Amino acid sequence: MKAAIVKSFKEPLVVEETLKPEISYNEVLVRITACGVCHTDLHAAHGDWPVKPKLPLIPGHEGVGVIEQVGPGVTHLKVGDRVGIPWLYTACGHCEYCLTGRETLCHDQLNSGYSVDGGYAEYCKADANYVVKVPENLSSVEAAPIFCAGVTTYKALKVSKAKPGEWVSIFGIGGLGHVAIQYAKAMGLKVVAVDTGNEKLELAKSLGADLVINPIDEDAGEWIHREVGGVHGSICTAVSKQAFGQSYRSVRRGGVCVAVGLPPEEMSIPIFDTVLNGVEVVGSIVGTRKDLQEALQFAAEGKVKTIVEVRPLEDINEVFDDMIHGKINGRVVLSFE
Ligand code: NAD
Ligand code: ZN
Ligand code: ZN
Repeated sequence: MKAAIVKSFKEPLVVEETLKPEISYNEVLVRITACGVCHTDLHAAHGDWPVKPKLPLIPGHEGVGVIEQVGPGVTHLKVGDRVGIPWLYTACGHCEYCLTGRETLCHDQLNSGYSVDGGYAEYCKADANYVVKVPENLSSVEAAPIFCAGVTTYKALKVSKAKPGEWVSIFGIGGLGHVAIQYAKAMGLKVVAVDTGNEKLELAKSLGADLVINPIDEDAGEWIHREVGGVHGSICTAVSKQAFGQSYRSVRRGGVCVAVGLPPEEMSIPIFDTVLNGVEVVGSIVGTRKDLQEALQFAAEGKVKTIVEVRPLEDINEVFDDMIHGKINGRVVLSFE
């Protein structure tokens, strides 16, 4: 099968023929038709984070396709079913986190396109218990970004505890941010969108953002306080330490700052303000299988529509380059059809 492979960190990916995976107990073989390109895949290919991925690595955790083979023990899926393979490739199913609806915190989890091979390939194997079915009326290309960008921002908005009619700020209007705005509007929230790219802010307006601000012109945190008195929740998806500081400062008293983006830096926050303002700072990592089903349902009902640019697998190095330079509007999805 054809796959895009990271052979060493910070080197271009190599697109070549490699062995098709073989499945065993409780696994399915998926013929991938579409796979979104997440900024996390770029972090993986660069070896940015303290925990390194396996090498060689086939990245990709927004892979959607059709089940071609089911392994022994699989009873709830059949050949021909259309599924996606999310970041949470598998978890133990028995620990305190798995048992309390917090499976994304499981210490024994494996991650697609990081600790196991992912969806930048014509075929990918998966744990049958952790794939999620794609609603019928959603195309694979449209659905792919929901498997990470969608579920992650949908969950982060839940974590922000913002209620209908309240304000949220979304920092970074890229793959994650462009769907975050739509989930927020569908939840009845008012949205301030923040991005350093003016064309991203135009996109944000077209997706329903109530206010937009470019932090190059002015500190977005201070501006948001002046305009709306601060937000009830802030979701920071930008890969920038400065953005995290401004996201924190955009929150009003009693509000929640949700860290989602993963720049390999530290975030420093003032203790005094955090204490006196009763501000919460919390991390949010993807979402559970249930969150994913819900996030897909919003898309199936047309309340969230991913903006997608379809590219062939061979373009992956150019796509990464575009991502580094902030040139992508919405999400790039690699298509295998
Ligand atoms: P992306 O490249 O598509 O989007 C990033 C956006 O941030 C771009 O639009 C860029 O213009 C904007 N930006 C850059 N600097 C900024 C600044 N200072 N202020 C405001 N905006 C700025 O990336 P993506 O795929 O949306 O992923 C974003 C981050 O989220 C990555 O670090 C990724 O690893 C992480 N991520 C986290 C989770 C999670 O579960 N927590 C899940 C998926 C991705
Ligand atoms: Zn992702
Ligand atoms: Zn577990």
